[in-house]
Amino acid sequence: DNEITKNFIENIIDEDNESNTYEKRVHTRFPPEPNGYLHIGHAKSICLNFGIAQKYGGLTNLRFDDTNPSKENVEYVNSIKEDVQWLGFTWDDRLFYTSDYFDKIYTYAIKLICLGKAYVDDLTSDEIREYRGNFSKPGKESPCRNRSVEENLKLFEEMKDGKYADGEKVLRAKIDMASPNINMRDPVIYRIVHAPHHRTGTKWCIYPMYDFAHPVSDAIERITHSICTLEFEDHRPLYNWCLENWEDADGQIPRQIEFARLNVTNMVMSKRKLRVLVEKGIVSGWDDPRMPTIAGIRRRGYTPEAIRDFCDRIGVAKADSTVDISLLEYCIREDLKMKAPRIMTVIDPIKVVIMNYPVGQTETMTAENNQENEAMGTREMTFSRTIYIERNDFMEIPVKKFFRLSPGKEVRLKYAYIIKCEEVIKDADGVIVELHCTYDPESKSGSGINANRKVKGTLHWVNAADAVDVETRIYDYLLKSNGEEETDNGDFLAQINPHSLDVYHSKAEAYILQYHPGDKFQFLRQGYFVLDADTSATHMVVNRIVGLRDTWAK
Ligand code: ATP
Ligand code: MG
Ligand code: MG
Repeated sequence: DNEITKNFIENIIDEDNESNTYEKRVHTRFPPEPNGYLHIGHAKSICLNFGIAQKYGGLTNLRFDDTNPSKENVEYVNSIKEDVQWLGFTWDDRLFYTSDYFDKIYTYAIKLICLGKAYVDDLTSDEIREYRGNFSKPGKESPCRNRSVEENLKLFEEMKDGKYADGEKVLRAKIDMASPNINMRDPVIYRIVHAPHHRTGTKWCIYPMYDFAHPVSDAIERITHSICTLEFEDHRPLYNWCLENWEDADGQIPRQIEFARLNVTNMVMSKRKLRVLVEKGIVSGWDDPRMPTIAGIRRRGYTPEAIRDFCDRIGVAKADSTVDISLLEYCIREDLKMKAPRIMTVIDPIKVVIMNYPVGQTETMTAENNQENEAMGTREMTFSRTIYIERNDFMEIPVKKFFRLSPGKEVRLKYAYIIKCEEVIKDADGVIVELHCTYDPESKSGSGINANRKVKGTLHWVNAADAVDVETRIYDYLLKSNGEEETDNGDFLAQINPHSLDVYHSKAEAYILQYHPGDKFQFLRQGYFVLDADTSATHMVVNRIVGLRDTWAK
């Protein structure tokens, strides 16, 4: 294969294979914390971890990093499994939980205590923070730092046995309070949390910290390449320190590799912030179609193919950047272009009566299901005296270059006839309620009559007699800003777009009745849509996935 297309992680793996560091094994993991729903940033990590293993004939574990019982639950575990599978990846029998390793992690902590590399500290979390110092100020040692091994063993056991309240004691790694890397200034590796765990119940009241549990879990699973986001670069020395005394049969200690996290314009990428949106009712739930969660994106109508294509296109970099959301939109258009059937739906209808069309007459027109993919065939549409067209396809006083319908002007109705607007009917408030038109019976599509006529506009329409009522949900971006909210930890709620959802009462051609929630189609001239889960036997609801106009500069 082509060396030039390899990313920096693949280059590292190649080097490891050459030096036989891992006996040519490639074993990655995706380690979400089940404290929320996954978002599109996680999709990048999933595609990367599973994708790299696939490429090298290796394996990928799905591991729930469940070390924080007060924030985690089974609903999140299940949603994460569903999302990973939906993206197209399988873990077979490689589903693990950090909580499966609590005994092993505990035993390893005792080993570190015995080696004089860990101690129980009585300082409060505020004191620990204060003693830790900062970039310009070296840390100060805790008075507990030089406790004997025996005392540490006794206190740690008492912590485990529930003798102390939350925060009363912690276990710290004994590394270097003067290290220029703050992470190495005796980090906390165990803390007391009296909260039931969704898997281990009340067995434990001490839980390992992420920075300790993570490398040990990687080592237990014999992971070779532990891929994480850039903010963990400073934690790598700690990752390695934690495994210095880990004894594996063949000494194959996992290697941590950091890559740039995904940021997308107009999207927040943090479970914590997404939870705020859900809890404040700003969105309808984790799967609201405006949410950047995988569940939201799926309900919005995105396909796994489009998400995987997006993750491929953005690539893997060592430096943070923000991807324009229009690339994501480009990917779904590309995926649906050839496979989504086109149907006609008038989103915001206005009634049109064709005065010279015979009362009671109905004819059928043949329409293409996908102009770009002939293999999708054709369907029949009915046409009669009363139809609907789009409200914004009519202007009473047309602006320049408005080639759609206006008084005295002609347009073509797609697959049907040329019509001319003769009269505008308004209600008492001056709102247009109906247009009276005439049609040219000679102008039927396919008759060839159009050839020497100057009719520039072609409109979509539906026949009033068999049109289906559809609720159309048109979304705008949930956030107004362009990625700033990720770095500015301030009030991202100020960035909320108050007009991110518009609802229309639309009229669709009867063909739509055959579709089921999750089915996707193009509304001719309008964009791509998906039938939403809110659809019932009597009420159809569609979400706009994306409009047709492509703003992505290739
Ligand atoms: P959040 O900050 O949104 O809560 P997290 O990093 O805390 O996310 P985890 O469940 O711990 O969430 O993440 C699981 C994996 O997904 C980690 O390896 C993490 O690095 C990766 N990940 C999380 N966010 C992104 C992102 N925006 N881009 C790429 N990878 C990400
Ligand atoms: Mg996390
Ligand atoms: Mg996080």
